[in-house]
Amino acid sequence: MSFSFPELPYAYDALEPHMDARTMELHYSKHHQGYFNKFMAAIEGKPNANKSLEEIFSNITNEGAGIRNNGGGYYNHGIFWNSMSPNGGGAPSGELADAINSAFGSLDKLKEEFSNAAKTRFGSGWAWLIVDKSGNLKVTSTANQDNPLMNSESVNGTPIMGLDVWEHAYYLNYQNRRPDYVAAFWNVVNWEYVAQQFSAAK
Ligand code: MN
Repeated sequence: MSFSFPELPYAYDALEPHMDARTMELHYSKHHQGYFNKFMAAIEGKPNANKSLEEIFSNITNEGAGIRNNGGGYYNHGIFWNSMSPNGGGAPSGELADAINSAFGSLDKLKEEFSNAAKTRFGSGWAWLIVDKSGNLKVTSTANQDNPLMNSESVNGTPIMGLDVWEHAYYLNYQNRRPDYVAAFWNVVNWEYVAQQFSAAK
């Protein structure tokens, strides 16, 4: 089996006060771990067990709900944890900054578009910054645990930054105030990781 459960790259309380420790602990050790365990149970012994997640997602419409929901949940949370850092916030630099300016006009415009995608996703889902197959940056959002690598999506690309907008990601600290949670994300966003992902994907 080529799948493993990733370590959280910082302590549960490292993103306080923007992301509270109790939410981080439950989110990582219960929700993310749960998706991983259920994905492993669903894929075990299947012909696709030796494929990469990217390959599985590219043909997700041929899979059942167990692999789609839990494989998505397993992958998406890995992107999410890495999209944040205790040393995050601020602004990107270099190639990523240039690409953001060229695609969106400015960092503020990207933040506005990404925040709107996060705030307007009805119910549970994700907001994403992706690199499409032409190398362009785009903002998109997906429902449930779907992601832009899945062939079920109308907007496809490689996720380089992801924000979880399921209530389990913010309800303890922000209750129904999803916009406050989305605003707080920018204080911890890990531009260094996003820049690495951008270089690898474009
Ligand atoms: Mn989640």
